[in-house]
Amino acid sequence: MPSIFTRIIRGEIPSHRVYEDEHTCAFLDINPARPGHTLVVPRQEAPGIFDLDPGAYAALWRAVRRVADRLERATGCERVVVIVYGADVPHAHVHLIPLEAGGHLPFPQPRPTPPEDLAAMVDRIRAATRPAYDTRTALVVVDVQQDFADPAGSLYVKGAEEIIVPVNAEIARAREAGATVVYTQDWHPATTPHFARDGGTWPVHCVGGAPGAEFHPALHVADGGLFIRKGTGGEDGYSAFSVRHPEDGEVSSTGLDDALLERDIDRVVLAGLATDYCVKETGLDAVRLGYEAAVVTAAVRAVDLQPGDGERALHTLAEHGVEMR
Ligand code: AMP
Repeated sequence: MPSIFTRIIRGEIPSHRVYEDEHTCAFLDINPARPGHTLVVPRQEAPGIFDLDPGAYAALWRAVRRVADRLERATGCERVVVIVYGADVPHAHVHLIPLEAGGHLPFPQPRPTPPEDLAAMVDRIRAATRPAYDTRTALVVVDVQQDFADPAGSLYVKGAEEIIVPVNAEIARAREAGATVVYTQDWHPATTPHFARDGGTWPVHCVGGAPGAEFHPALHVADGGLFIRKGTGGEDGYSAFSVRHPEDGEVSSTGLDDALLERDIDRVVLAGLATDYCVKETGLDAVRLGYEAAVVTAAVRAVDLQPGDGERALHTLAEHGVEMR
């Protein structure tokens, strides 16, 4: 049975609508705490805001800011109070309440608390981190392929064979926790502007179907994994999420984002090759798309065309909020 807010969004129950976009709707609260009191509601019917898909969640907060901005201009209020409460309607929503200068809303009664109790609470909260893997996490094993990982490969990444054991250990941990394992492969046509001989940067590598494109034989390729091939149409294939045409720059999706959304995955853990290219671009794309992200630093290796490229890539990822494990 649809929630009352879904029925409002569908127009089955009348409302005073002030905003809508593809993911979100906003209408006046029927019992306003102050004039202009507005509810911002995702179209997705999730019980609470933290149950939303990452895309709907990000869209909700973008809409909250837009609507708050309009409320401030429309009412001339001093500020807009943001409340997520949800005592009555089990369909995620955010209250926006314009507050006049010097105005107050009732707030839960403060309770003076001794500093040692506060310190104990800090310990509890810091220790309550999410487990390394869970069902809403995907381990993305980036390009552990012969041409990169075998010392005889055409684009061998120094030390790549050393990551096979730690990568397999991550795969085992991920599977044990019910996480999804994603395997990516560079999968180029025989001729592509990505290759130096055709005007690009790189020696010929990972040509689809050739032995160099195969996974390293010691890599544990688990049943039930998701497989993503990048660059199949001649594009540069750095990120597991998107590829870019080397000539016209057009970006297209690999389908990974949709596949993860379908599985309700909101965090990716990265391992594989190479730190300064495909791991870095995958991590940056993941954050841009709203995922939490982490890198297993013992399970990546860098090309290091310039000395220090790998370290700089990890630094850039950390600056973008990617956790270093
Ligand atoms: P809560 O679930 O506690 O965050 O509060 C739900 C809010 O929804 C309350 O402020 C109600 O006044 C509001 N509400 C309930 N029914 C409607 C409706 N038909 N139109 C607009 N607001 C509503």
